[in-house]
Amino acid sequence: MKHTGGATITGLNASDSAALIPVMKPWLDEAEAQAAAEVVLSGWVAQGPRVAEFERAVARRLGAEHGIAVSSCTTGLHLALLAAGVGPGDDVIVPSLSFIATANAVRYCGATPVFADVDPGTLNLTPQTIESAWTPRTVAVLLVHQAGTPADVDAVAALCATRGAVLIEDAACAIGSTYRGRPIGAHSDLAVLSFHPRKIITTGEGGMILTSREDFAVRLRRLREHAMSVSAAQRHELRRPVLERYLELGYNYRMTDVQAAIGLAQLEKLDAIVARRRERASRYIAAFADMPGLQTVADPPYGTTNFQSFWILPDGRYHISQEEFLSRLLDAGISARRGIMAAHREPAYAGMASRALPVTDTVTTRSIILPLFHAMTDGEQERVITAVRDVLREACR
Ligand SMILES: *Cc1c(COP(=O)(O)O)cnc(C)c1O
Repeated sequence: MKHTGGATITGLNASDSAALIPVMKPWLDEAEAQAAAEVVLSGWVAQGPRVAEFERAVARRLGAEHGIAVSSCTTGLHLALLAAGVGPGDDVIVPSLSFIATANAVRYCGATPVFADVDPGTLNLTPQTIESAWTPRTVAVLLVHQAGTPADVDAVAALCATRGAVLIEDAACAIGSTYRGRPIGAHSDLAVLSFHPRKIITTGEGGMILTSREDFAVRLRRLREHAMSVSAAQRHELRRPVLERYLELGYNYRMTDVQAAIGLAQLEKLDAIVARRRERASRYIAAFADMPGLQTVADPPYGTTNFQSFWILPDGRYHISQEEFLSRLLDAGISARRGIMAAHREPAYAGMASRALPVTDTVTTRSIILPLFHAMTDGEQERVITAVRDVLREACR
């Protein structure tokens, strides 16, 4: 292992892009390039056989009954909420502490997102925070596995069952994480994955809805394709004319075969990516273990995380703003990010009533996400560790 001294770091220039350590970099190589080229040369580039194959492969890998590929996790959440029957006048409980798409998807349905606070350890909703946000119009809970850390799905599912609400998992970040020994994605009626490059495996843009319910699967496949009675791919295969019907208001939320082919190559790498991220994360955890008042992301007692984002949360003894922290890291050639955003603090949610969310407010204003990617070298990680320790030591005086 090569240790880089503090002197080297001060000598780096943030504008020297060759030296900048990115916060994330997907693992893409010849395998994905060839898979995409094959699809292009086949002449069928829209949703077709590769999408169907990718759906079967992901569902099998995660132990779900059906996979429905879509253009993103955001569009997948929209369709999952529609399948669950969410509509105007309904309330859906969501964490404010999430990427904004979580709450937006509820609004796409004409329903109202009701924000609940999160657990300070996992940054996820709990039965207690959900119960305290419950309204008479609550029909569903959108449970996020934030940064890949599994939420306590069984406990939330039990609460939803008692109250007659639908549980939908926003598993955008959580492919490769586990809950009570099983992969995230197969624990409830509806779970949605993301294949954005900032997530664990990527198709450029893309998502997938997982469901155990045949009726949901049939309707979701239709809704993503204009609610046509016969899919374009089926119509292409049939040797007779088919006059399709449009059965309800549908959408164009399809994934392409080019994306699915890339996804199939990425899926082969999933285990290696998760193993590597967990190994890099444990090095970070060990390196910061002696810093008082510095919390880091970690496995919950009931599962394992893929460490989709490696966040750290310095407590009040560190006198440094997020912006100052990020700019100090940038000076050291390190591209970090502010911690997870909070929708209730954004202009898009101005004027929408929200209860007090003390944990959310603390986490969103104080946490920092550090670089973590498959190809990250020992030297790069040492540079990050040294820079973070230097910044925090100074901020603690
Ligand atoms: C990234 C993310 C999304 C959106 O995923 P896209 O595929 O980019 O639409 C939704 N929810 C959470 C929690 C996310 O992190």
